Order: sequence, then C-alpha cells, then structure tokens
Amino acid sequence: MVIIKSDEEIAIMRKCGKILAAILDRLRGEVREGIKTAELDINMAEESKERGVTPSFKNYHGFPANLCISVNDEIVHGIPGKRILKEGDIVSVDVGAKLNGFHTDAAITVGVGRITKEAEDLIGVTEGSLKSGIAQAVSGAHVGDISSAIQHYVESRGFSVVREYTGHGVGRELHEEPQIPNFSFGKGLLLRKGMTLAIEPMVNVGDWRTRLAANRWTVLTADGSLSAHFEHTIAITDKEAEILV
Ligand code: MG
Repeated sequence: MVIIKSDEEIAIMRKCGKILAAILDRLRGEVREGIKTAELDINMAEESKERGVTPSFKNYHGFPANLCISVNDEIVHGIPGKRILKEGDIVSVDVGAKLNGFHTDAAITVGVGRITKEAEDLIGVTEGSLKSGIAQAVSGAHVGDISSAIQHYVESRGFSVVREYTGHGVGRELHEEPQIPNFSFGKGLLLRKGMTLAIEPMVNVGDWRTRLAANRWTVLTADGSLSAHFEHTIAITDKEAEILV
C-alpha cells in the first residue's frame, strides 16, 4: 500500500532531509585519496549523533554499517571497511537518516582525484538521469514516466541501467511501496500529492547485469565495469517535485 503523507509529516521529512544533506556534504568532502572507507562510517555515525538523527541503514535487514560505500565496479550496498581510497576511484556514498519516525535517503558518486573521462561521463550521466526522472515526478503522471525517462536518458548516452535494484517509496519505513524501476516497464502507479519517493538510478558503463559479492551484501557489475549511483528523496506536490534531500 502506498502511504500518502500529510503536510506535517512532509515537514518532518524536510527537516530530516536538510540534516542528511549536511551530513552527505561532509562525507563528500572526505572522499579523498588515502582515507579508509571505515572512517567514513565512523564519521557518518558521529555526525548523525551530533545532529540528532539515526542512521537508517545500520542493522536494516542486518546491514552491518551506518552507510553504504560502493567503489568502482561495486554498484550498491558496499560495506565500509579496510579499503583505502586511491586516485582514480569512483565512490558511491549512500546514506539514510531517521528523525521523529521518518526516513530520508540519498546517494552521490564522487571521483577521487583525477578520474578517467569515461568515469566522469558516467557520473554526469547518472546524475543527469536522476534529474530527468524527477522532472517527470508530478501529480497526475505515473511511476512509469519516471522509469522511462531515466532509461532513455542513460541508454541514449551509451550506458546501461541496473534492473535488479530500484527506487522506492520512503517515509515511515526506509522502503515503502511503490518500487520505482530505472527502466521502462509500463504505466505503473498514478502519482499523487503527498507521495514521498526515493529515486535512485544505478548506471553501468558496460552491461546492466549484476552479481552479489561473497559477503552477500555488496552488489557488483557482472562484467567488472564501473558503476555510479545518485539518489534523491522527493515529495510529490501540486507543481514540480520538492527535493527533500
Ligand atoms: Mg534508496
């Protein structure tokens, strides 16, 4: 069932989103050569505590960290640890926070130092595809409009969209209905004011297929090609979507 949020509930999510955006800003600045990904996890916990929010991912279905860090051919759900970032890496940072019973969810991909032109293009196209999807997210349109826009944006620029993982409703739960695929699947659900959605294209340089790492969490590209991930939490309004984070 899709949960429609009241103005008061969206106000809480807006506040949560502002805090999460500030946390993500700090982390973005910390993605640099020589940092151990576990340090980003510690800083996520520290910053969340200081700002009065709870990291949404910790213990979610048993996830062992405060945020997801996915490097190069890792698509999503990477677990921070001993890995040390090096020049040329591309690093997806996916974070969620809970405030007063409501979650928001966001992700960015950042290059470490000088990255290849291909990696730069991948990051730009992924972020652009998220924008093109959000532009379709208006009351009276359908989930499928978002999905088709993202797929078209990505594939017309020579990259591929991951199929097995999708965007989702977000709010009282980290993952609510509906699913929001990043590929064309038909019309889908009618979008209405008060829906809050996490839209999150995952884009690969090569093939869209994925594989699961031995840790049973980290999702990688099957062909070893680079992958990028951007995510915003938005609210459907009477006009254009409001970006909450
Ligand atoms: Mg998400």
